[in-house]
Amino acid sequence: MIREISIGISMAAVISMLIMGYDVTPFLFLAVAAGALYYFAKMRGLINVKNFDTVSVAERRDFSFDDIGGQESAIKELKEALDFIKNHCSIKQLGIRPLKGILLTGPPGTGKTLMAKAAANYTDAAFVAASGSEFIEMYAGVGAQRVRKLFQSAREIATRQKKDNALVFIDEIEILGGKRGKTTSHLEYDQTLNQLLVEMDGLKVDDKVRVLLVAATNRDDMLDPALLRPGRFDRRVKVDLPDKEGRLEILKLHTRNKPLAEDVRLEIIAKDTFGFSGAHLESLANEAAILAMREGLEEVSQHHFNESIDKVMMGGKLDKRPSKAEMRRVAVHESGHALLSETVRRGSVSTLTVTPRGDALGYMRQTPDDDTYLYTKDFLENQIAIMLAGSVAEEIILGNRSTGSSGDFEQAVRNADIMLRSGMSKLGVICPDTLPQELKHNTITGIVREQEERVKKYIIESKSIVTQTVDILLEKEKISGEHFRAIMREKSN
Ligand code: ATP
Repeated sequence: MIREISIGISMAAVISMLIMGYDVTPFLFLAVAAGALYYFAKMRGLINVKNFDTVSVAERRDFSFDDIGGQESAIKELKEALDFIKNHCSIKQLGIRPLKGILLTGPPGTGKTLMAKAAANYTDAAFVAASGSEFIEMYAGVGAQRVRKLFQSAREIATRQKKDNALVFIDEIEILGGKRGKTTSHLEYDQTLNQLLVEMDGLKVDDKVRVLLVAATNRDDMLDPALLRPGRFDRRVKVDLPDKEGRLEILKLHTRNKPLAEDVRLEIIAKDTFGFSGAHLESLANEAAILAMREGLEEVSQHHFNESIDKVMMGGKLDKRPSKAEMRRVAVHESGHALLSETVRRGSVSTLTVTPRGDALGYMRQTPDDDTYLYTKDFLENQIAIMLAGSVAEEIILGNRSTGSSGDFEQAVRNADIMLRSGMSKLGVICPDTLPQELKHNTITGIVREQEERVKKYIIESKSIVTQTVDILLEKEKISGEHFRAIMREKSN
């Protein structure tokens, strides 16, 4: 606005001078030179250094640890660290040096940003947020200047808000704090990181505004050791994917503002969503509500959640419709997977569909037994068998295989490789690095072949289950796990 008014006044002045007969060439020259200088400085990021003030205030909502689900131990650890800040008087008395930085590490979408916001609330601190990528520019010195500005903004905002503490949150710290000397434009990266180290070293317990740096990353292996040494990021808190109880808590949090139908069983959804992060679960609850709205319903039902799990896992439904023959092949393939899945573990099939989603023309979703972090030999062999069953079913029912199985084979081979490395193959415990390539290949293909033979036997014995499932799938596009089990029971009697 001020810029527009200044331009207007200058133009009016120049026009008046022209009317009065003055030579305006020197003024015009000066104006062009000033404009060029301004443009150049702006290009280099020297003007309008990111205003962290506005970002932070907009992002700060009163957010507490109660709004974060499934991170009990991470929250406990973080709170213990934050108590140092709350009790700064006794810390000073005992001569304890102040806590300068807390590093939150963990997969994307697990709630690291939420934890930083809740930490600001817990310590009654002003909150200023930035992302590592905002500090990286082509020109040396700009990033360092932004780091200075970030800390300065934090102090100014805290003073304005009459707070004694400020929390600076940097997301994706690995971008700005990566190992020095590893990037092509060293100088800029190194200067930016050096400035961050200088800022951290300058934090004191008796500062007028006590500043705490909280950073988040999912690549802590990339961080420069100088950042990780004691006295810098003194505390590292792992924010992991939630377990089943955690997923239930998060689902409860994200459905508390949604009207749920009586049939909704959040425990079942939590069980079915092994590997989902908080962000996935938030999206799942949101998608379920959108589906209910599209159907013109006032409540969200279990089937909306089931459909959303598929959407979050596999992607949105696709418009492409395969030909009838291809649909039949997809139905045979998925029925083969389902038959093996149910044979090796009763109750494991959750849904079976030939609706194209994401990259898949159809899919069979399993209900995980329980959250599993260790796998036995039987489990891995069964998984290989399930992976191979789609292709084997195509061969037995349709007489040949298709290219649709390459992803399944990759997974089967990966599992066989895990078996080899874990000493579960006929070679026993091996050193994978010195194992001859041919021996490795033969052992892995041996494991896969053995399962292939086993699968062939099952599918030949239960051919009628596959063909009936295919007919129903082609008619209805989707079969629930219960329906599939009913077909199996009926055909086995
Ligand atoms: P990234 O590493 O990608 O930056 P992040 O770990 O910082 O991700 P957040 O930004 O905190 O993840 O979370 C994204 C969204 O996911 C949140 O706004 C929230 O809706 C949801 N969410 C993630 N984790 C949790 C959780 N533990 N409890 C409740 N909601 C969560």
